[in-house]
Amino acid sequence: MITSVADRSRIEWTTPTLNPVTGSDRVSPGCAHCYALTFAERFRGVPGHGYEQGFDLKLWPDRLAIPLRWKQPRLIFVNSMSDLFHERIPFDFVCDVFRTMKQADWHTFQILTKRGRASCGARAAAGLAGQRVDGRIH
Ligand code: SF4
Repeated sequence: MITSVADRSRIEWTTPTLNPVTGSDRVSPGCAHCYALTFAERFRGVPGHGYEQGFDLKLWPDRLAIPLRWKQPRLIFVNSMSDLFHERIPFDFVCDVFRTMKQADWHTFQILTKRGRASCGARAAAGLAGQRVDGRIH
């Protein structure tokens, strides 16, 4: 996961990754060894690097359309370098991510979160996108 959108993820069970948001904050003991934080902070202050801002939260709206250009079905890990349900990500932007997932419906998208309210957020965003997700969010 050297770049924000990698063709090959180091997480073995999913490839590739799509990061319309990077950066996050620790919210649980499960964040103690966050690989994304460690990786991003390594490049804080490096001019021009994708993680010049370290692990500070940053939106990348220009990345939203990337899955639409991938014509072959893929299993895509969304926000491997953040948490899509981070409380400071604008709700409209979360909806934009879900709209992209609906548009690129030949792919399978995987979202992991440590935010407790994620289920509500995911359902609301998916609902706005007109996508039926009941039974697929756990
Ligand atoms: S929520 Fe996820 S991305 Fe954010 S600090 Fe915790 S493990 Fe890292």
